[in-house]
Amino acid sequence: MSPTYGFQFDNSYARLPEALFSLSAPQPVAKPDMVLFNHALADELGLDADALAQQPDWFSGNTEIPGSTPLAQAYAGHQFGNLTMLGDGRAILLGEHLTEDGRRRDIQLKGGGRTPFSRGGDGRAALGPMLREYVISEAMHGLGIPTSRSLAVVANGEPVYRDQPLPGAILTRVAASHLRVGTFQYAAAQQDPALMDTLIDYTLHRHYPDQQGNDNPALALLDAVIAEQIALVTHWMRVGFIHGVLNTDNVTLSGETIDYGPCAFMDRYDQDTVFSSIDRQGRYAFGNQPAITQWNLTRFAETLLSRMDDDVDRAIEMATERLKGWSSTYDASWLAMMRNKLGLTGEQAEDESLITDLLSLMQLHKADYTNTFRLLIGGQQPQGQAYNNDAFASWHARWLARLEHEGNVDDSWARMRQNNPAIIPRNHQVEKALQAAEEDGDLSVVNRLLAALSDPYADRDAEDPYVQPPKEDEVVCATFCGT
Ligand code: AMP
Ligand code: MG
Repeated sequence: MSPTYGFQFDNSYARLPEALFSLSAPQPVAKPDMVLFNHALADELGLDADALAQQPDWFSGNTEIPGSTPLAQAYAGHQFGNLTMLGDGRAILLGEHLTEDGRRRDIQLKGGGRTPFSRGGDGRAALGPMLREYVISEAMHGLGIPTSRSLAVVANGEPVYRDQPLPGAILTRVAASHLRVGTFQYAAAQQDPALMDTLIDYTLHRHYPDQQGNDNPALALLDAVIAEQIALVTHWMRVGFIHGVLNTDNVTLSGETIDYGPCAFMDRYDQDTVFSSIDRQGRYAFGNQPAITQWNLTRFAETLLSRMDDDVDRAIEMATERLKGWSSTYDASWLAMMRNKLGLTGEQAEDESLITDLLSLMQLHKADYTNTFRLLIGGQQPQGQAYNNDAFASWHARWLARLEHEGNVDDSWARMRQNNPAIIPRNHQVEKALQAAEEDGDLSVVNRLLAALSDPYADRDAEDPYVQPPKEDEVVCATFCGT
């Protein structure tokens, strides 16, 4: 029997109605070479990390992993507001790995070759963007934010042609699932109630098993997904993450962050920050993410209406009530999160203005989002251009006075340490690391960055390069999809 190196596949998605996918094997590549392998994740999944790290063939599609059933998932998506039929054009789901403790994880090759959904695309990916996804997804995990993970990046030994020839690569992505709002949009477009019911049941079983057997499964699913997405967006706002392409096909039903394209972390605090070169209108700007997620979940609710109630008006009423509740639930979640960032446990009437006043000052004085909160720990007034002004000094005094309502101030500092990272993957550091990897084949910079980002809440020296905001000439203004 051939070795499985710990892989234990059970491919439930492949047992769903065929309308939802297309069997599609990855296309072998010329010369697979392991560029990055995630030993810690492999261990967590119960895989034989040492053996698999030596098997680039397994993560390029050249060797069929025993038990896998490669397929491309069908889905639709509102891309910048327009509904399109999409599907995995360059991703191949190998199957679902079951861990010893019963977790089910999708194992997917991104850049694995053409599929029936590739349209004009080549089904491939370039090394730079795959390394970028690896770094940022693992950084998100380090920050304690639900996310897909990255198990391996394999260079495929073939060029991909974009504006210029680039080295090609394949990322092995691990996720709770790849079910997304777009999966439901695709299913709803089939006009087949039985298909929708099957998909609802499948999603509940996979992500919200407590809700299976609920009298109204469609409504239960909407409620659960709303709750998870609120939790997720709140996390993004906590650390200054900008997804960049919050199309409905990139909104998961599990509540994990997925699809790291032109995403970025904000340095200076600014609600309107946009990095993505394709987001000209700022639809997916930092401060728009809660509202756009609500918009995306409204699209999700629409797909569920006919399954919520035979009476359409009644169904619309139920869904509308849920979506109207979004704003107040999100606001409460955001306020609780910001209180944590400022070390506050109790609730005082003035908290909200204390928080928004700080944010206004940060925006006005171009303060660094990450460092400001970290510098506040301990209660000293932060030093630096952004803080040397009367408005900030008076805000600082108000905050210290507010902290007196707290029991033990040491608990506040501890709370702030847990909720404010000392480091984030700053764009200029990510770019430097990718450049060394792409241009010189030097992965030491990426590996150093990854090691630091695995422990982002630990105290760091103020002089630490990962703590420093970019200098004027280091600022990265735009990020690209790399597709
Ligand atoms: P994304 O921007 O990665 O979410 O992709 C949007 C859609 O374009 C998805 O259906 C992808 O599968 C598809 N796509 C992106 N890049 C390629 C490519 N190089 N070849 C084929 N399809 C692609
Ligand atoms: Mg996508």
